[in-house]
Amino acid sequence: MIASAPAGADPSRAIAYARQPANRARWIGQLGELLTFASISALPKHRADVRAAAEWLAGHLARLGLDGSRLVPGIDGGPPSVYADWRHAPGQPTVLLYGHFDVQPAEQKDGWQTDPFRPTRVGETIVARGASDDKGQFFAHLKAIDSYLRTDGRLPINVKVWLEGEEEVGSPHLESFLDRYPDLLRADATLVSDTEMAGRGQPSIVVSLRGMLIADLRVRSGASDVHSGRFGGAVINPIHVLCRMLASLHDQSGHIAVPGFYQRIPDTPRVFTSLERRTIRPAIDVNGIAGGYVAGSKTVIPAEAMARLSARLVPQQDPREIAEKLRCHFRAVTPAGVRARFTISTGSRPTTIPRDHPAMHAAVRAVTRAWGVPPRFTCSGGTIAPVEALQRRLHVPVVLMGFGLPDDNIHAPNERLHLPEFFRGVETVTHFLAECAR
Ligand SMILES: [Zn+2]
Repeated sequence: MIASAPAGADPSRAIAYARQPANRARWIGQLGELLTFASISALPKHRADVRAAAEWLAGHLARLGLDGSRLVPGIDGGPPSVYADWRHAPGQPTVLLYGHFDVQPAEQKDGWQTDPFRPTRVGETIVARGASDDKGQFFAHLKAIDSYLRTDGRLPINVKVWLEGEEEVGSPHLESFLDRYPDLLRADATLVSDTEMAGRGQPSIVVSLRGMLIADLRVRSGASDVHSGRFGGAVINPIHVLCRMLASLHDQSGHIAVPGFYQRIPDTPRVFTSLERRTIRPAIDVNGIAGGYVAGSKTVIPAEAMARLSARLVPQQDPREIAEKLRCHFRAVTPAGVRARFTISTGSRPTTIPRDHPAMHAAVRAVTRAWGVPPRFTCSGGTIAPVEALQRRLHVPVVLMGFGLPDDNIHAPNERLHLPEFFRGVETVTHFLAECAR
């Protein structure tokens, strides 16, 4: 699309467009289409759904009027991502808009009241997997672009859109992606909407994210399962061993008991609040345990048991160093007679977001215009691996301006998007693009 001379950064026509009920109704319909794809990156059987969501988005970005909309092939068998841009604002900064179209697993039997991939309107919400994390949130970016291109025929600044398909599994190919496409995502700033606000009408900008480590611990005692009537009481049960090893991770008060785990962070003896423990303090959790037989009655002593762990890390904690401390700890507590194997699947570093750069100032002004109150700066306990990688690899300042609510049920049954926050999010991003213009 060829643009005329800069028209100034006046978002008023785009904002008026974004408020028209007919446009809002159409956008809800479009988002509903996107939410029908079961784009679950964690499960290989949904590979085709991940790809179908990517193809739908590439078509949507092209129809918005963005240039060069395409699927970027995944690295080493990873899922494709989607890229498009609009670069017709010479002299203006370039902002990368990031989102992820992959979602967490969801099945109705997990406690969903509706089919997770049949979006359902409930009051002022849309209930569907991915409605808030992250399809609905990055859709606010796309509809801000839509509003400008349908009214002014141009954007106030240059924009790149990159939508990822493996964020929910820790973006394992991102480093290789940045090696292969070193310039594709280069920008003056990145906007990410994949976080939540402090509450309704309480916009916030996240300024720190915890890092993460995902690991498996396997304990094996023999070559095959044996009968508990013939061997019970005489042989080692790897589930018992695994449970003791997992229990050794914490002391009675919940303090992490892995030697050296707190080495680089202040570990004052004071009691931390619940909020602090969820955001600025590290944690180790067992996410799941597998082993033995529970589907019916089968008196068996299993040969193997496994657990998946995740650790949330805070600044100064390096995932590789923590992985090594965990490995040493498990080696020290492995009893004779079993083999324990500890493997890391992904690790990402904690992130602190600098507040003093033009895009952050633009975001504060945009939030204040759209919501009537300035944003709070908050710390998130979550992890968004690409944020850390983009900052470190491309030196791109990141703005984490999300429009989710604490009760959106992300990663849980009955995930939902609050439409008033979504529409206000569209207006906020519309203001943000104008505020970034020089
Ligand atoms: Zn997300």
